[in-house]
Amino acid sequence: MTPVPRTSAEPASAIAQELARLATSTEVKAAFEWFRNQETEFARWQLELARIPAPPFGETARADWLAERFRTLGLLKVHKDGIGNVFGSNPGPSTPMISISAHLDTVFPANTPLNIRQQGTKLSGPGISDNASGVTALLAIAGAFENFNLPHTASLLFIGNVGEEGEGDLRGMRHIFSDPKWKDSIQASVVLDGAGTDTIVAEALGSRRFEVTVRGPGGHSWSDFGAPNPIVVLGRAIHLFSQTRVSSSPKATFNVGVIRGGTSVNSIPESASMRVDLRSSSASELERLAFELRRALEQGLQEEEARSASGQNSHRRPQLSSEMVVIGDRPGGELDSDARILQIARVVDAHLGNNAHVQRASTDANIPISMGREAIAIGAGGSGGGAHTLQEWFDTTGRELALERILLIVLCLAGIGRPGV
Ligand SMILES: [Zn+2]
Repeated sequence: MTPVPRTSAEPASAIAQELARLATSTEVKAAFEWFRNQETEFARWQLELARIPAPPFGETARADWLAERFRTLGLLKVHKDGIGNVFGSNPGPSTPMISISAHLDTVFPANTPLNIRQQGTKLSGPGISDNASGVTALLAIAGAFENFNLPHTASLLFIGNVGEEGEGDLRGMRHIFSDPKWKDSIQASVVLDGAGTDTIVAEALGSRRFEVTVRGPGGHSWSDFGAPNPIVVLGRAIHLFSQTRVSSSPKATFNVGVIRGGTSVNSIPESASMRVDLRSSSASELERLAFELRRALEQGLQEEEARSASGQNSHRRPQLSSEMVVIGDRPGGELDSDARILQIARVVDAHLGNNAHVQRASTDANIPISMGREAIAIGAGGSGGGAHTLQEWFDTTGRELALERILLIVLCLAGIGRPGV
């Protein structure tokens, strides 16, 4: 199959007209009503899901739970792929698909105590918002399409994907968009991630992450004094790298987040390592920062070898080595300002009186956006906080606004009354 061409820009007024017609249709009104009536059930789904551990690379139990919900709601062709992504479809008459996805994984290791609880409208516990709220919204939208027979020409593909967080490195989406079956037919992607309704992520923040390791001969702190020290190499490299200038537009950042090494206070370490995170929406800026990091490491190593060679134990031949291993590589990019999906999101927000701004972030949308496909990431409503901590919370108040927003965006994308989309 040939790749689906990108749709040409359509005047915002045409989208607004279509939306106005949609919003007054009996089916859409019934779906909105259902969103308000079903909140107890939505909260139950969210609590149930958050109680299932889903550390990076350990999402199977959650995927099975979601597949079961997909089947119960009536989605067709419910299945998992080779790495554990879950799919369910609501076919339309035309081939192009709109994907609606939410990541299943959390940042929490397998043994994290998941004290998931509810007090009134407030749900608490690790992962309750990021991304149990996204998965709940995914189910609510799938349920609305199944229950109210909302017409659409494009097929809808509902996805619970693995591997968004940390070392998951977007592996779920990467896998989906490397499969010709999906990559050639998914025309636009709506990613549901976390709470709120106030953002549209349309700029994909890229990142490159490295594990830098330095090794040396090691030795006794007294008798081998002067031998090159891997921790000192890292110290020198960090000092040099931290002086690297970063661009403010497009913004770029770096962080040395983890440092490890050594065996005891009276040993010259045999190895030391650090983890470094580089971020920017510009691929060339990421390249440049990676180059500067490598240069700082080499200079730090040379300086330490020179120091060692000139010291009192200079008969020892310096034996330092280093390596820089990529442990994360998320592609960046941004949508064209006239991208149809962005216009639709803006028109829907204007219609709902919702104030949202375009944001740059690292989400599952990075993958399609970096491939020049239309994609946005938006919130699952309510409000939330404490993401990636044990104190995470989500307040369900106002969730229905996000569900209405997502539904209208998906309906416009899926082309009601636009045969041939
Ligand atoms: Zn998330």
